[in-house]
Amino acid sequence: MDFAYTPEQQTLREEVRQFIAEYVTPEILAEVEESGVRSRGPKTREMYQKVADRGWIGISWPKEYGGQGGSRIDQYIVEEEFGRVGVEVGGAGSGAPAILAAGTEEQKKYFLPGLIRGEISFALGFTEPQAGADLAGLQCRAVRDGDEFVINGQKMYTTRAHSGSHIYLMARTDPEAPRHKGISIFLVPMETPGITVRPLWTIQNDPPAPRRTTYGDRRTNEVFFEDVHIPASCMLGEENTGWYVGALGLNLDRVGASRYLLSVQRDEDIINWVKENDMGGYGPSQDPAVRDRLAELWIEAQVCRLMTMRSMSLVERGGTFTYEGSAEKVWAPEHGVKTTETIAQILGAYGQLLSSSEDNIEGGVFAHNLMGAFQSGINHGSAQVMRDQVARRGLGMPRG
Ligand SMILES: Cc1cc2nc3c(=O)[nH]c(=O)nc-3n(C[C@H](O)[C@H](O)[C@H](O)COP(=O)(O)OP(=O)(O)OC[C@H]3O[C@@H](n4cnc5c(N)ncnc54)[C@H](O)[C@@H]3O)c2cc1C
Repeated sequence: MDFAYTPEQQTLREEVRQFIAEYVTPEILAEVEESGVRSRGPKTREMYQKVADRGWIGISWPKEYGGQGGSRIDQYIVEEEFGRVGVEVGGAGSGAPAILAAGTEEQKKYFLPGLIRGEISFALGFTEPQAGADLAGLQCRAVRDGDEFVINGQKMYTTRAHSGSHIYLMARTDPEAPRHKGISIFLVPMETPGITVRPLWTIQNDPPAPRRTTYGDRRTNEVFFEDVHIPASCMLGEENTGWYVGALGLNLDRVGASRYLLSVQRDEDIINWVKENDMGGYGPSQDPAVRDRLAELWIEAQVCRLMTMRSMSLVERGGTFTYEGSAEKVWAPEHGVKTTETIAQILGAYGQLLSSSEDNIEGGVFAHNLMGAFQSGINHGSAQVMRDQVARRGLGMPRG
């Protein structure tokens, strides 16, 4: 097995780095910080267009839908480099894998080029007040009315609902069927009348998390649907197959540079901080316990990276993707929590001061990440549920 990048991939990485050095200016980074990592201000949109013009978004998507028909590893390289400076391009949460797998020709032609141009982005509308880990218990209803569906219900923790153009909505279409079998997915424009979005501010909003805080958005949302009429053509996949379409999309969306980087960037930050704060030879870099711990975290980070590469290579070769994304979703967030806790131990009391304190370290970014890291083991599927999937699908154990 060859773990090295090809010369072409190394050239691509260099090109992306040069692009970032030239175009990802401090103004753009300030704008990203202002509007939140995932929403885009005018300068960011301009820069994003340049990225799209270079063919760096949707690299692995088919050419007929605006992609390059290229390699997922190339896509990973682009995401990884942009992720390092805190700018999200394409990648996880795009909804594209499920649309490619289950969408109609019309949906693929509409959504995929729109995603590449940055004109379309999805909020994930799965969780409800009474249906989180037990998602199959969801109650949001979609009732057929001729060529339309009428939606009523509530979604919870819908993170991009205030900034996304569409919601990737899971709703119950057959209440009589067994729980997993009466569910469908709809791709619903957020501007449809009857949809109300209310903010749910998170722990990262007060005081505001500084740039480079990778864990936790400042805002998530509640979304209410009151007699929302949508054309039946908004349905993704066959009626009542939403559980399987949704699971496929989620699994594929769990794979990618962003999940891996979320954990690994923090390792890089603390290693750099320790090296830069030598304190005349008496700094933490001289402490054997610190060196030992950082080396251990770094080794774990490489495992994270290899798990990600394995998943991507599997998808690329058209292999069956069963438990790999779930395993990665356990390892990467738990590694991230360990990293933030170790950082807190190394930095001591000052390292726990948030952005609002003038005595904080590095603008409070380490403290905010410490606060936010634990939720990465809950969102997008909790660690307990992911472990259960690894036990069942990976190890062939019976349902617990
Ligand atoms: C910051 C953040 C952003 C989010 N963004 C989105 C989003 O954009 N879209 C969206 O749809 N959802 C989103 N979520 C929701 C997330 O997916 C749910 O929080 C998650 O599925 C857990 O559901 P719950 O919060 O209702 O907890 P519960 O389902 O009540 O679970 C509580 C705890 O019990 C454990 N547990 C539950 N059942 C089992 C079981 N059978 N076996 C073992 N352990 C179990 C869980 O692992 C968890 O630790 C977000 C969550 C957070 C925190």
